[in-house]
Amino acid sequence: MSALLSVYDRDLVIVSGKGARVTDQEGRTYLDFAAGIGVNGLGYGDRKVLSAIRKQADRLIHASNLYHNQPAEDLAERLVALSFPAKVFFCNSGTEAVEAAIKFARRIGHEQGRTELVAFERSFHGRTLGALSLTWTEKYRAPFEPLVPGVRFCPWDDLKQAALTIGPKTAAVFVEPVQGEGGVRVAPAEFLQGLADICRDAGALLVSEEVQCGLGRTGKLFAYQHANLRPDMVTLAKPLGGGLPLGAVLVREEIASAIAVGDHGSTFGGNPVAAAAAMAVLDRLTSEGFMAKVEKRARALRRGLNVLARKHPAVVQVRSLGLMVGVEFRGKAAPVVKGLREHGVLATRAGDNVLRLLPPLVIKQKDIRQFLEALDAVLANGAGAADAEAESIAASMKGTGGAVA
Ligand code: PLP
Repeated sequence: MSALLSVYDRDLVIVSGKGARVTDQEGRTYLDFAAGIGVNGLGYGDRKVLSAIRKQADRLIHASNLYHNQPAEDLAERLVALSFPAKVFFCNSGTEAVEAAIKFARRIGHEQGRTELVAFERSFHGRTLGALSLTWTEKYRAPFEPLVPGVRFCPWDDLKQAALTIGPKTAAVFVEPVQGEGGVRVAPAEFLQGLADICRDAGALLVSEEVQCGLGRTGKLFAYQHANLRPDMVTLAKPLGGGLPLGAVLVREEIASAIAVGDHGSTFGGNPVAAAAAMAVLDRLTSEGFMAKVEKRARALRRGLNVLARKHPAVVQVRSLGLMVGVEFRGKAAPVVKGLREHGVLATRAGDNVLRLLPPLVIKQKDIRQFLEALDAVLANGAGAADAEAESIAASMKGTGGAVA
């Protein structure tokens, strides 16, 4: 029995990690195809990240945001150099980054009476009340209503509806260039460009919500780059701190002057150890050939998944951009996740029917092969199939040693 509040359904106790693998209390090792839900982009125990953390921890762990700290200054400058002229706000998580972006949008639109926010069906933006208000899924929202008023949801990839919804009262539109929790849905470039045009015409801000899909996950440093976009804000978190809690909001320079001292803050945001770790993360992500290797690994994974999709009728569709991958099944994804774990592979779901894969960006080809073999075996056992089919596969497996996962 755990003394932790049970907001997660969990049983494994992870005690260590190296590369793409973690080890549990019993000494069992697992290949992690969720990368700590997208946090361990460089896998576990990256030498340079560890060394940056140790060095900075020896010098200064915390001094408060009443003073400058050099690692946070350097990191902000680096992020701007890699994106567009902007000012950077640091916080400690994805939901805090979204929360900050909501406040900044409201602050910037304040004089014009822009208070409304627009998000999309199947969006996920976090669990705190502001971010939750932008999150579409009913089961996350309903027990906590009333939420922040003035949020409107648009259908995904529907510019007509977006144009009807975004108007003179809209402060900002929040879009995940690849929806994560919502089932790994890649926004077509034309959709994102169209949104940018609508926002510009309406005077609303466009926020590229890249907590999950940013920082190399899709094969580009920022996901908005796939659409050649210039967002007004970008939210980042998950892999930014190399495993330490760190979130960021980039705010386009021309609009950042609307935000003044006292408008927002965070005791821990921009912690020097987390910022030093993030510099080491960015060093790796921007090193020569890194993204080309991500693309190559992504192609290998996608090719293998396409083969499995042809072989197993349980697979409805494979969706991916870079190493952000969703495999949609006719039946439930939970038995697939369970079966994979029995084969020594950790993965996660996105909704009921989608297996979500976020392997470390440094995943090796032989690990991709191990994963594909495990998935093949799990699907052959009937996992992922619609109920009736799963039962008939299970019946046909009787006596062969195969169990329905
Ligand atoms: N935004 C997106 C797109 C996410 O995927 C998540 C988490 O999965 C969040 C925000 C919330 O991030 P955090 O859990 O760090 O608060």
